[in-house]
Amino acid sequence: MDKVKINIISGSGGNGIVAWRKEKHVPKGGPAGGDGGHGGSIVIIAERNMTTLIDYKYKSLFVAKNGEQGGQKNMHGANAKDLVLKVPCGTIIRDVATGKIIGDLVNDGQSMVVATGGRGGRGNSRFTSSTRRAPQFCEPGESGIERELELELKLIADVGLLGMPNAGKSTFISVISAAKPKIADYPFTTLIPNLGVVRKPSGDGYLVADIPGLIEGASEGLGLGHEFLRHVERTRILVHILDMTEEDPINNYNIINNELAKFGSRLSDIPQIVALNKIDAVYDEEKIETVKKYFVDNGQDVFVMSAATGNGTKELVYFITKKVEEIPLPDFNIQVEEDDIASNHDDSGFTIVEDYGTFTVVGGKVERLASVTDLENHTAVLRLQNILKAMGVMDALAQSGIQDGDTVKLGQFAFEYYKDDIGEEENER
Ligand code: GDP
Ligand code: MG
Repeated sequence: MDKVKINIISGSGGNGIVAWRKEKHVPKGGPAGGDGGHGGSIVIIAERNMTTLIDYKYKSLFVAKNGEQGGQKNMHGANAKDLVLKVPCGTIIRDVATGKIIGDLVNDGQSMVVATGGRGGRGNSRFTSSTRRAPQFCEPGESGIERELELELKLIADVGLLGMPNAGKSTFISVISAAKPKIADYPFTTLIPNLGVVRKPSGDGYLVADIPGLIEGASEGLGLGHEFLRHVERTRILVHILDMTEEDPINNYNIINNELAKFGSRLSDIPQIVALNKIDAVYDEEKIETVKKYFVDNGQDVFVMSAATGNGTKELVYFITKKVEEIPLPDFNIQVEEDDIASNHDDSGFTIVEDYGTFTVVGGKVERLASVTDLENHTAVLRLQNILKAMGVMDALAQSGIQDGDTVKLGQFAFEYYKDDIGEEENER
């Protein structure tokens, strides 16, 4: 499960309200309608202890709560909580509609807002001015943002294990960590990378990925292919495990490194620690010394161990831990583009749908405006008309072939259209 698609919808803002102060002996006090609360945003956060995206295979729709509407006595509606989605470190976020990569969450705790919640609408008291003592209207909340995202895990492990099939990678990881990967005596047991968390004495851990075996020709599509190499690409350090019972371990080492070089430069730049494995089954001491000397002469860190008996593994883990602390995570060169959708709440676009002389105006903002307008209140209706005019709705109606006397529908409203009856000369009061 290293690629999933999810749909997200951030919360819309709560509507403002129209309300009035209630005072003894005063029939109608000043305006007192509160603002709506903020809608919940959707946030994606990388967490080190998450290792797969599998949770998102079973649940793929995430909807944040809406802000509450404003209250009487200028009470602000409650803001909605953000909805936080946890993903493994190394998750790349792509907008499906545009195909753009908008995020690459690398470090533990790194987060990004992928859809902001809508702003709450203002209550009527906020529209008071010297010439407008009693505003009859309020604002709707902004709508939430709906989008589809693709999450792709390009795993970030601190340590990647390299080696021929059967070199002992799975065995090693099961010895040094709590993870218990499948171990068998044939090639390609490890079809997906196994992960292990190695606990440091300080308590926190680091991630080790057991990478499926590479064989000669993998870069030409043989064996498991390069699909799997993506996983080793983002590590601090590689541990190259060599099976010392093989005839020519140094040749095996070179085969793997040639594959890495063919795959791309990034991988061959990652520092390697060499681990000569299965020494419990090697009776030729001289062979071990010769191979070891070869790497030492090359200036490489080399360890001798038996993953099966645990002999020598402690020293190696100690060294790996030290290296993990020293070596920073490399720069992965993933191009992240500007995300102009996450906080774009503009839904002022609309369409006019005609059906036998009835013209229905359909659109996010126009409908939300209508929803907070009091049908019974002349001033409020006039204001709505003025806003619709400014948004171009009236012009669009005129161009749609509408005739005087035809019906216009907008949300809860239905009114008869007359070209001159648009209240042009009347100001909002
Ligand atoms: P991988 O393909 O690199 O993951 O290799 P595995 O960990 O699955 O090991 C392949 C085989 O080698 C298994 O049968 C293991 O039991 C065996 N093996 C692994 N490490 C050692 C070792 O240190 N000594 C011996 N004698 N056998 C080992
Ligand atoms: Mg394995």
